[in-house]
Amino acid sequence: MAARQSALDSALIQLAQAVEVLGLDDGLHALLATPRRSLEVAVPLRRDDGSLEVLRGYRVQHNLSRGPAKGGVRFHPDTDLAEVRALAMWMTWKCALIGVPYGGAKGGVAVDPRVLSRNELERVTRRYASEIMPIIGPEKDIPAPDVGTDEQTMAWMMDTYSIHSGYTVTGVVTGKPVSIGGSQGRGGATSRGVMHATFSALAEAGVDHRGARVAVQGFGKVGGLAAQYLHDAGCVVVAVSDVGGGVLNTRGLDPVGLLRHLRSGAPSLVGYPGTDAITNTELLELDVEVLVPAALEGVLHEGNADRVQARFVVEGANGPTTPDGDAVLESRGVTVVPDVLANSGGVAVSYFEWVQDLQAYFWSEDEVNDRLRDLMERAYGEVSALAADKGVSLRTAAQVIGVGRVADAHRTRGLYP
Ligand code: NAD
Repeated sequence: MAARQSALDSALIQLAQAVEVLGLDDGLHALLATPRRSLEVAVPLRRDDGSLEVLRGYRVQHNLSRGPAKGGVRFHPDTDLAEVRALAMWMTWKCALIGVPYGGAKGGVAVDPRVLSRNELERVTRRYASEIMPIIGPEKDIPAPDVGTDEQTMAWMMDTYSIHSGYTVTGVVTGKPVSIGGSQGRGGATSRGVMHATFSALAEAGVDHRGARVAVQGFGKVGGLAAQYLHDAGCVVVAVSDVGGGVLNTRGLDPVGLLRHLRSGAPSLVGYPGTDAITNTELLELDVEVLVPAALEGVLHEGNADRVQARFVVEGANGPTTPDGDAVLESRGVTVVPDVLANSGGVAVSYFEWVQDLQAYFWSEDEVNDRLRDLMERAYGEVSALAADKGVSLRTAAQVIGVGRVADAHRTRGLYP
């Protein structure tokens, strides 16, 4: 069997597919495939025991043709430049697809945040923020949370940037606590968007979401609340998992109870009363209507896509399905709602947060949630109409819209010099 496709392989293959449908020339293709800026930094960390460790940090701005760059910051041991490049590219298409005036970026530090103390985590975050400070800012590049980071990480980044600037700059990051310029509704925005995308896909196929069985891989910021919102809306969430394994109850789990269980310090989901333990591999292959991969890249691939029983895969994670996996799912009639559409609720509300910060005027949670729903339903409608018109998958249609808008921006602006 050929080697598993990496995130960067996947992003470049998906770009090439969109370029072919759009009929773009080789020069523009090369421009769209190449990151505008890649910064690699050393992040020296003084551990609590006095020893010194030097971590690697990254920030990639993939494209700036439609506005400042936007994208999350990941703290994960496997983070490297190639992964960050792929994630930054997906951000470019996502922002263009949902019509927010940003280019794409991503950043990260190769570190396992779970082994650091809170003080160590703060020092890593502040040093990383200082190192990438020359290229970030509310008009340049606006980071946000991703895997292994959260609103506290964003608070430290905002504070570090503000201290260096000599005044408070709320708009430098999004996903901050509400008390320092965060938006109502940002915490649950990606998950709420996943719910809207799920409902749109089911409704289009004439499937009632009430009673639909759902499995969610990844029980973090995205997967945890996606499970809760889908459960609250009447879906039957039968299985969830995290890095430590998963739990199953075919009659339905209680996501709020599971979230409380983890927040109370339980080391794992496994062992939660009234559930059976399952592996992450088993979760992906369960007999459900909807599978929501909401952990990491490349979990659905050539080697397991033929065993997926779900009719709908709604990508909460970025890049969970490789192009080879996609081809297998498509040939089997599985509807894949692609990442750039399904998880775009996060960057949508990040955009709302940035707008609120720039205006220093804040909206109610209902206003945020209503605008998010409108934006997601409009984006889904555009993607699904193009997919039907061109006879392509939702992924290709979403990429064609996103890539096409960025290509248009390049043509309109022209090439300097
Ligand atoms: P998180 O760190 O809050 O949660 C990640 C979850 O995945 C955790 O439950 C973790 O235990 C689990 N996990 C890690 N490795 C795993 C493995 N090998 N197998 C199974 N589970 C594993 O991160 P998050 O913010 O929820 O991000 C999850 C995905 O969603 C990522 O792909 C991220 O890029 C994407 N995403 C996040 C946002 C956002 O707003 N946070 C927005 C759009 C997309």
